[in-house]
Amino acid sequence: MGEMEDFCVTECTRCPALVDSRSQIVNGTGPEDADILFVGEGPGAQEDSQGEPFVGRSGSVLDDQLRIVGLDRDSVRITNCVRCRPPENRDPNTDELENCRGYLEQEIDLLDPDVIVTLGKVPSEHLLDRSVAVTKEAGSVEEIRLGGAPRRLLICVHPAATLYDRSQEETFESALERAADLAGVDGSAGGQTRLDGF
Ligand code: URA
Repeated sequence: MGEMEDFCVTECTRCPALVDSRSQIVNGTGPEDADILFVGEGPGAQEDSQGEPFVGRSGSVLDDQLRIVGLDRDSVRITNCVRCRPPENRDPNTDELENCRGYLEQEIDLLDPDVIVTLGKVPSEHLLDRSVAVTKEAGSVEEIRLGGAPRRLLICVHPAATLYDRSQEETFESALERAADLAGVDGSAGGQTRLDGF
């Protein structure tokens, strides 16, 4: 892992297509001792230009839902399966996921979170190493082993899913409530009600 100091990858040329399509490497963000780690698929256009995960439309959905369950974006860690934007926002392929896997595992090792929340199909299947019906399985918790260590993983829908299908909002919200619960974070005190955003 010579290229990774602490949580950050500063240089990597393992994926030729992504080296071409990225404008920068997008590392995880948030406290290095956060209890909850959110894992997305990979940076989109906004993330690529700002150098931070989940700062585009999906990011605002994530931020809103975090607020609703009383979690603050600044108190959680957010990262992606791959750190470079795939061309035309396609899904990262198996080689790319594999190339970036070590960085993700190192981030998880260093962080040692109470719970890893996978946002959508790609990260859920990547870390569980099986096919996942995300909508059906959202909210379920599984124990996995990563780099020899036992880790708790909570399956969640991708925030963008709530934009296409409003009924997913509830699924998303209850998964986040479960995450807060598992991490022993009491969301109720600082949480806003659903109506606050309107
Ligand atoms: N979608 C993702 O999966 N990750 C991001 O960082 C942004 C959108």
